[in-house]
Amino acid sequence: LKEKLTRAQELVNTASIRSKGVLNKFALDGQVAVVTGGGQGIGRSIAHALGEAGAKVAIADLDLSRAETVAAELESKGISSLAIKVDVSKKQECEEMVQKILSKFGDLHIGVNNAGIVMNSDSEDTSEREWTTTMAVNLNGAFYCCQAEAKHMLKKGYGRIINTASMSAIVVNHPQKQVAYNASKAAVVQMTRTLGTEWCDRGVTVNSISPGYTDTELTRAEKLVTLRNMWSNDTPMKRLADVEDLVGGVLYFTSQLANFTTGFNLVMDGGFTCW
Ligand code: NAD
Repeated sequence: LKEKLTRAQELVNTASIRSKGVLNKFALDGQVAVVTGGGQGIGRSIAHALGEAGAKVAIADLDLSRAETVAAELESKGISSLAIKVDVSKKQECEEMVQKILSKFGDLHIGVNNAGIVMNSDSEDTSEREWTTTMAVNLNGAFYCCQAEAKHMLKKGYGRIINTASMSAIVVNHPQKQVAYNASKAAVVQMTRTLGTEWCDRGVTVNSISPGYTDTELTRAEKLVTLRNMWSNDTPMKRLADVEDLVGGVLYFTSQLANFTTGFNLVMDGGFTCW
């Protein structure tokens, strides 16, 4: 029996060493990340996760005070951070964002392009302003950030870019009507595939996450209360995602376990798009 117990202990020890070896592949020590739209919601949660995995994290948001609050939260956990005001729909501001990160941290390894907005209207009444603003933030913004980040990353031969798309890239969520949003997110997925194949042999992977309905300010508006109940019922898991439910996808893409993964869209929707 003693022999068996010793052998069992050996196996446990080996398994534990092995599992630590795997877990080490998620470590981001020495890496620098930026999260756009990091001032609240999904972006804030991703920023915390990247910081906890060891990265220094720049929080870039249109709302500087939100970005500063999140940066302070990270600093209070001992994570080096930087708050940046950026409007991602402006190419020059995206380039300046990257320059500010390089000035402070000297490098950039991870770009999470997450800033996004949604506007609802019947398609026949969607105004030119609604259409162009949604595209400007969700699609142009993601592209300008990818470009600005990749210019540095391609020179260094390493980078991990993750764009936040949406399950609305794949299914038409209803009854709310958001043609511009759906089209912008579908375009983000195809842009991700394109960049992910163009840059990967120079060390830069580009992937996207597509969350399902998630409990954030975006979905908390009073007028959405009835819809939130409907969304929960329509989701096989019978609930909205918590922001923490989404960080695993990002941590996978930034890990050394994703070295052969690029151009991929990871849907995290509690099964919504399966039905
Ligand atoms: P949110 O509204 O809670 O937070 C978005 C953040 O982005 C805010 O802090 C806002 O200030 C910032 N932002 C807006 N426009 C910006 C701009 N032009 N430049 C820089 N920052 C800007 O949203 P969220 O729910 O956390 O969503 C984050 C991302 O996830 C978005 O791209 C959204 O489309 C996507 N998404 C959300 C859901 C959901 O159900 N909440 C589902 C799928 C995808």
